[in-house]
Amino acid sequence: PYAGISGDEILRKRKTFLGPSLFYYYQNPLNIVEGKMQYLYDENGKRYLDCFAGIVTVSCGHCHPDVVNAVVEQTKLLQHTTTIYLHHAIVEFAEALASKMPGNLKVVYFVNSGTEANELAMMMARLYTGNLSMIALRNAYHGGSAGTIGLTALHTWKYPIPQGEIHHVMDPNPYRGAFGSDAVRYAKEVEDHIAYGTPGRVAGFIAETFQGVGGAVELAPGYLKLVYDKVRNAGGVCIADEVQSGFGRTGSHYWGFQTQDVIPDIVTMAKGIGNGLPLGAVVTTPEIAQVMSQKIQFNTFGGNPVCSAGGLAVLNVLDKEKRQAHCADVGSHLIERLKSLQQKHEIIGDVRGRGLMLGVELVTDRKEKTPAKAETAVLFEKLKDLGVLVGKGGLHGNVFRIKPPMCFTKADADFVVDAMDYAMSGM
Ligand code: PMP
Repeated sequence: PYAGISGDEILRKRKTFLGPSLFYYYQNPLNIVEGKMQYLYDENGKRYLDCFAGIVTVSCGHCHPDVVNAVVEQTKLLQHTTTIYLHHAIVEFAEALASKMPGNLKVVYFVNSGTEANELAMMMARLYTGNLSMIALRNAYHGGSAGTIGLTALHTWKYPIPQGEIHHVMDPNPYRGAFGSDAVRYAKEVEDHIAYGTPGRVAGFIAETFQGVGGAVELAPGYLKLVYDKVRNAGGVCIADEVQSGFGRTGSHYWGFQTQDVIPDIVTMAKGIGNGLPLGAVVTTPEIAQVMSQKIQFNTFGGNPVCSAGGLAVLNVLDKEKRQAHCADVGSHLIERLKSLQQKHEIIGDVRGRGLMLGVELVTDRKEKTPAKAETAVLFEKLKDLGVLVGKGGLHGNVFRIKPPMCFTKADADFVVDAMDYAMSGM
């Protein structure tokens, strides 16, 4: 049994000792005290099916034994020295990660979070091209630091500080976007924006292949291929933010950008790369990486032995357990079941995604696509009571995000859909 302080007490202390910008899920916030693979347990021992994986972070499963073991063994031997000395773990991890990349993406910089990875990627793009203008998508989330907040394009996360030389173009959202799934028209808008809104030469373009925080939005098919060409013609480099969509989660491919048949110049990653460890990475070509050698780029904890050992274990687990194929298999079953649920419940406006990277968008009017904000909040609480934790996303908070640990099974998928059906039937 749990011997720690109660949820109420934690909440009181949190309000006093932690920053007021923190938010929490659920009217009575959950006090999660233990995790095992796709399950979480609260202070009373109640079990929940985790469909959000710590915001898409836990890839292999909570406390996966291989990852725990790698971290514990390395911790006992040596925790930290920094890269001023040699250590085998960082190079072994970098080599394994590079082997997962296509093209000439072979050089890795390790950092500690997705925000840091995108900061570094943006700096590299600017230094390499000699240009300043960055292009990002509306509805994107790339981080909350002073620099990446400029890339992020959801007003809920943006503090009123200078946002730098950053331009946002329309997100090619097949469900809500002005041009539907017409990638050509969205790409033309990017070209026009570069011509009218920038000096005509840009540093780079960054996009998530599947917008995560923005509500599990898969970009219109063919979009990245068209836009990468336009950006490169304007002197820019193309950055893929794989913080949520990488490591086989989409099922069909190991990286989200591969679903759009492109090879980026820089790839950023975090979250699932560490199964819960604070770890991020930037992978790029030797030519682009070279630009950082003008000065020293140092990161005290980046690639530390413990995180590197854990990260390598994650890559091995995902391969050994064939998680990409598993995500494809379970994901197609889940999406099929969600689509039949959509036939039954008028409130489900859209079911989308691939693999275990899915979104269910709720609307009060299918034609007008009016966000069902209040209804989503009620259903969200009901699902929790039924033992199912999903994520919430989209600017209006009306999208359920289903992105569980990749060990999630078909039986788990059935449980989520049955719980949604039950909750929606009782509305
Ligand atoms: N990029 C994407 C796509 C993300 O979803 C997030 C976090 N939600 C980040 C970057 C920032 O990552 P972190 O919170 O680790 O800084």
